[in-house]
Amino acid sequence: MQFLKSVGPRRAAAFAELGVRTLRDLLFTFPRSLSDRSAFSSIAKAPPGETVAFLVRLIEVRTRELRRGRLRHITVARFADDTGEIEARWFNSPWIAEKLGDGLIMLYGKTKREGGCLRLDHPQYEILAEADNAQATLSIGRIVPIYPCTGCLTQFVWRKAMQQAIEKALPMLAEIHPPEFLAARGLPDRRTAVRDMHFPGNAAARERAAARLIYDECLFMQLAILRLRQRVRNEYPGRVFRVTTEIDERIRRLFPFCLTAAQERCVAEIAADMAAPRPMHRLLQGDVGSGKTAVATYAMLVAVANGCQACLMAPTTLLARQHCETIKSFLNNSPRARVRLGLLVGGMSGAEKSSLLARLQVGAVDILIATHSAIEPNIRFRDLGLVVIDEQHKFGVRQRVALVQKGIRPDTLVMTATPIPRSLALTIYGDLDVSVIDELPPGRKPVKTWIASPAREGEVWRTVRQEVQKGRQAYVVSPRLEEDEEGEIRSATAAYDNLRHHALKGLRLALLHGQMNRQEQDRVMASFRRGEVDVLVSTVVIEVGVDVANATAMVVLHAERFGLAQLHQLRGRIGRGAEAGQFILLAAPRTPEAERRLAVLERTQDGFKIAEEDLRLRGPGEFFGTRQHGLPELKLVDLVRDFLTIRQARQDALEILRRDPRLQQPQHRTLAAELTRWLSEMATPALG
Ligand code: ADP
Ligand code: MG
Repeated sequence: MQFLKSVGPRRAAAFAELGVRTLRDLLFTFPRSLSDRSAFSSIAKAPPGETVAFLVRLIEVRTRELRRGRLRHITVARFADDTGEIEARWFNSPWIAEKLGDGLIMLYGKTKREGGCLRLDHPQYEILAEADNAQATLSIGRIVPIYPCTGCLTQFVWRKAMQQAIEKALPMLAEIHPPEFLAARGLPDRRTAVRDMHFPGNAAARERAAARLIYDECLFMQLAILRLRQRVRNEYPGRVFRVTTEIDERIRRLFPFCLTAAQERCVAEIAADMAAPRPMHRLLQGDVGSGKTAVATYAMLVAVANGCQACLMAPTTLLARQHCETIKSFLNNSPRARVRLGLLVGGMSGAEKSSLLARLQVGAVDILIATHSAIEPNIRFRDLGLVVIDEQHKFGVRQRVALVQKGIRPDTLVMTATPIPRSLALTIYGDLDVSVIDELPPGRKPVKTWIASPAREGEVWRTVRQEVQKGRQAYVVSPRLEEDEEGEIRSATAAYDNLRHHALKGLRLALLHGQMNRQEQDRVMASFRRGEVDVLVSTVVIEVGVDVANATAMVVLHAERFGLAQLHQLRGRIGRGAEAGQFILLAAPRTPEAERRLAVLERTQDGFKIAEEDLRLRGPGEFFGTRQHGLPELKLVDLVRDFLTIRQARQDALEILRRDPRLQQPQHRTLAAELTRWLSEMATPALG
């Protein structure tokens, strides 16, 4: 770096501080933004109302102090070129007056004509060194890159250094892909792309450049993920489960319904995985109520039919119990079924538990349904062949692994009702195969969703009363159990007390929350299920899994406090019967943004669209701890925007690895080297 013009030891050190040590590092440090200064004008010819760049000298500058509300300082400067004068104003930026000196100055902003004078408000400006025309040509009359400036690294130093890096290092940058590969995807070559990221001739060139580099990043990411998966699969051969026609028919007879086409497809994919001699790593995605439990039951019964045990792990006791009930009811549909279920949840008596553990260890339990207590060290299986994890995102990877290690290379099926945007599924879950149930069982009516401001509360509770009068039941959900300090949030407890005595007086209300002990929770849920409770007021413990078909209305208090995906999950609790449900969001969104966010739920019932919206607005952290999944810091890729590119890159990566699994062929030498480099960069934080 030091050998570049205008970069001495001090600046080289400053670059190094940012992780830029070589010319190559520099080339791959892309500008924060670009400023289109291709429209460059003399003052006399400048059209008013246009955004233009000027090359000028300072005549005078002064800053006035004001005492008018938020406007504290106004800095007014007059500039001139050979053709005329222009005035610029900056607000609340008194330091600018100090910076403007005698040399050439570039101004860039939207012109306006006021009182016969041409003016710029808050223009971008750059001080150009005297007698350096190169600087002017780097900073105006073109699309100009804007870098993350710090200290002695001014925009000009960056641009000048970059220009030299492009001259010296770019010609040495090796291409990764054959020309026909790039041509087929409409991508420019690598050198052009890197150059145009910094100094594009026009906006389209910059877009092509970004497309190329985004593609490369997607490809590296997919290659990394797929090779990881390859390694796991090749080194650990898995079990082979037989799925005969007889087994298949015997299982199907247990379901009181025909599987939907989507369920059929998922069952087929899972059966094929289980029959293959490699461990299954499959994600089963499906909206709430899409019937994942039936599909998982099919898989578990295949394992049992092959003489193995299966374990279903769920995030809450409530959910584990419900799964147990569901599976029991399936098994009761056949007098010949002799599958033995075990339920392991917190708070069991010592005797109950040790008896269960003993039966589990000798193989007298075929299917264990459990909470995370399944991973406790003293839980031993005779032969665990299949692990099913429900609501996978509620568990960490470590917990998944802990359960898997209780078997000898068991097959793994993870399920989630939080529809994961497809792009995330391919990245975070890129080591898993994905099956999607994208269809609800027949006869479901879409849930009517409406957002009610606090002013319409009366109407909301009248609606709940009407539902109850029709013999239906309702939920009221609060984000909190107890009052918060500011008293802003109506807690479940407060809502319960208040509704009981006022708006819903005369109805049968019950309170349910996660801090009640298990017997109490069960008692409340059971009486709600039996229809002895009209309105269940609760915290989000009911978020996942609760299945009461007669409940047709849900009111969510302070809905603006929830994530969209979470609200969508809650909504899934009510569309379960044949009756159209009502999902009412009592909300006081503070910003138009928050309002738009909630409105997404009114517009669509498609969990994937909602999840994508959530991803766009709140980032991937809302779905998972991305770090925990080892997702690299992506420099250019946007998981939502670039979904199609990610998919293309995945196909390409699969094809490349199919032909050259270890990337050892000579034509992949550069690709392999770049992939290694990319993986090593993962560890260092991205710049800017
Ligand atoms: P999920 O776990 O995906 O939220 P469930 O497996 O709990 O969904 O299924 C929701 C409801 O739909 C259950 O009452 C279940 O019995 C029912 N169900 C599942 N599959 C079908 C189907 N193919 N036809 C009719 N009802 C179904
Ligand atoms: Mg479920």
